[in-house]
Amino acid sequence: MKKIQMVDLQSQYYKIKNDVDNAVLNVMDSAAFINGPEVKSFQNEMETYLDVKHVIPCANGTDALQIALMGLDLQEGDEVITADFTFAATVEVIHLLKLKSVLVDVDYDTFTISTDQIRKAITPKTKAIIPVHIFGQCANMEEILKIAEEHNLFVIEDNAQAIGSQFTFSDGNIRFAGTMSTVGTTSFFPSKNLGCYGDGGAIFTNNDELAHRLRGIVNHGMYERYYHDEVGVNSRLDSIQAAILRKKLPNLDSYNDARRKAADYYDEAFAGNENILTPKRAEYSTHVFHQYTLRILNGKRNELQKFLTEKEVPAMIYYPVALRKQKAYFQESNDADFVNTDKLLDQVISLPMHTELDEEQLKYITDAVLEFMAK
Ligand SMILES: *Cc1c(COP(=O)(O)O)cnc(C)c1O
Repeated sequence: MKKIQMVDLQSQYYKIKNDVDNAVLNVMDSAAFINGPEVKSFQNEMETYLDVKHVIPCANGTDALQIALMGLDLQEGDEVITADFTFAATVEVIHLLKLKSVLVDVDYDTFTISTDQIRKAITPKTKAIIPVHIFGQCANMEEILKIAEEHNLFVIEDNAQAIGSQFTFSDGNIRFAGTMSTVGTTSFFPSKNLGCYGDGGAIFTNNDELAHRLRGIVNHGMYERYYHDEVGVNSRLDSIQAAILRKKLPNLDSYNDARRKAADYYDEAFAGNENILTPKRAEYSTHVFHQYTLRILNGKRNELQKFLTEKEVPAMIYYPVALRKQKAYFQESNDADFVNTDKLLDQVISLPMHTELDEEQLKYITDAVLEFMAK
């Protein structure tokens, strides 16, 4: 059996090695390393895939979030509501811009931000909501967009984990994750569902004016060469990464299908085990399984992780600490408002999930989990 990894980027690369190698060598040959035609082509192809008017490539997913917020003219102290249970980058950028993060609980079944808790957290200073499409599934965007409209708030979708996932609205309208709100962001970090071979990111919007603004911000606040209208940043997707992404984007749907197939295998193997809850698939969103995350109900999650490690099955705890309890983002809070997050911190364990898992590996992984749970 091939060694089991949390993410197997090498096997995936070998399947497209010729194409990718040629694309990279062509960039070297052209010497158009920055803002070359590959970046522009990737931008256009991503716009077509997502059916969104504007894709603004940038250096990574954290920059994408920061730049998206910079484009909205928020004032120091304005409040931004986001989930207590997410990767730290989401809240980091709020603090970098001297805004106030307001962390709220998530839903126990979908791990996404609780819309009831968003409503409770709104104050006159609230200016924006950042839902995170965590683990590969959309947050409840219909409800979030309704709340935003009622209170005149911006919505920034952190779509680092759910590229290619789709949300179905109650009127039948279907939209890609990251394209439903004011602005959306993603990351092309290698292990993400659409990963490049280094750092990369992008911002999505259907708003022409905002797109123009964001293209200036990523480029030193420059709208006309050497005229700097505002303080911007330097955040670029380089041409080599764009060339690699152009080879991977056409495979994104089949990559996500492969992840879903692995998830189906896991679901079936664990169905009916009273101490294992498999991830819920919300009726309004497709799931692209950036992570496959179980909830372990017998209180032995850490022992399970240790057991799996001994069996050479990697498994990770995403995430072990609530953001509101992190030193950097500490927020006075009433634990009674965070029952789901706090339960999840003790129960979640993510199993290997990538495009290259074969049945022999899946059987070995599920057998190992079930062996421990039967002890
Ligand atoms: C990965 C990730 C980011 C940051 O992306 P980078 O490209 O690593 O900067 C932001 N938010 C979430 C939810 C992520 O998973």
